[in-house]
Amino acid sequence: MTATATAQRAYNFSAGPAVLPVPVLEEVRDELVCLPGARCSLLEMSHRDKTFVDILHDAENTLRSLMNISDDYAVLFLQGGAALQFSMIPANLLRDSGKSAAYIQTGTWGKKAIAEAKKEGSVDVVYDASASNFNHVPRAQDYSVADDAAYLYFCNNETIQGVQFPSEPECPADVPLICDASSDFMHRAIDINKYGLIYACAQKNAGPAGVTVVVIRRDLLERGSDSLPGYLNYKNHADADSEWNTPPTFSIWVLGKVAKWLQNDIGGLEAMEKINREKAAMLYNAIDQSGGFYTGHAKPDCRSLMNATFTLPNDDLQSAFLAEAAAQDLVSLKGHRSVGGIRASIYNAMPVQGVQTLANFMTDFATKNA
Ligand SMILES: *Cc1c(COP(=O)(O)O)cnc(C)c1O
Repeated sequence: MTATATAQRAYNFSAGPAVLPVPVLEEVRDELVCLPGARCSLLEMSHRDKTFVDILHDAENTLRSLMNISDDYAVLFLQGGAALQFSMIPANLLRDSGKSAAYIQTGTWGKKAIAEAKKEGSVDVVYDASASNFNHVPRAQDYSVADDAAYLYFCNNETIQGVQFPSEPECPADVPLICDASSDFMHRAIDINKYGLIYACAQKNAGPAGVTVVVIRRDLLERGSDSLPGYLNYKNHADADSEWNTPPTFSIWVLGKVAKWLQNDIGGLEAMEKINREKAAMLYNAIDQSGGFYTGHAKPDCRSLMNATFTLPNDDLQSAFLAEAAAQDLVSLKGHRSVGGIRASIYNAMPVQGVQTLANFMTDFATKNA
């Protein structure tokens, strides 16, 4: 039965919720009905139970060691997805500050974040890549940020367009850098100390839907006003160790297991980055060596390691591509309507073999149909 369930799995290139590591899924299956030693399922357990509190702290500590997060930062497990962060960030850090918040707009998710921030205060879009249908990120000389900006916000990996910053954008020293890392959290080692706040909904690269991780520098916790709705104030969650109200217990449990998988099975984030680069190169090589049959959406210097986006010569070929890919167990490859074409999401948990199979399929398909 076990082998059968695992053997039934296709290579799933969904953008999110997305592929999870098989060892994590199998462990969850084995522990779901009765958590070892607990006499009940985690799904049935109080979030105040010491067993769960230990699970939450364990997840936090694994993230801290995996990502090298110091005690200058709080690690919060919240609900409301990335979308709530679009509002919570400006509610805490922009509202009534008398300042303007700087935003870099390189895709759909940044655009949505800007729309929400405008409800809270003054927004300065310091770079907007929309005129090129979001196919690139700016260079440092392409934008400037005021020294007194409330913060600088960017989305590291635009999931829909497949455009990723190769390194953090330039930011004045006293301006907190704020990052939506929803679709590339833990895909490589980063220096957390460059950030004021970095957050990610889990369901792309970190775990199941339902939990959003927020890593926030502790001095920023003081900026939220007591008059904010309680849930929206980061300080409440930090003071209560993410138990201000019932946290998403199941999602935190699984996210902790994914982080452990990264640490123990993969060997840490440097090792993960190396694998991610290898995987992405397979797909981008297939695009570049197709003689123009495939057209990549992102400019080569900011191609995403997580979401490869490309188009085919016409809609009929695209439909044939999707159908023939599915017949080879390569599924969920249809691109987002705003970009069209194909999107292959190759998050941490996507096996190298899955990407190799897709790359081989792409090359065969191009040869047959060019
Ligand atoms: C998916 C995604 C979001 C939205 O996440 P929700 O949890 O659905 O609110 C925001 N930003 C990025 C980069 C995403 O990939």
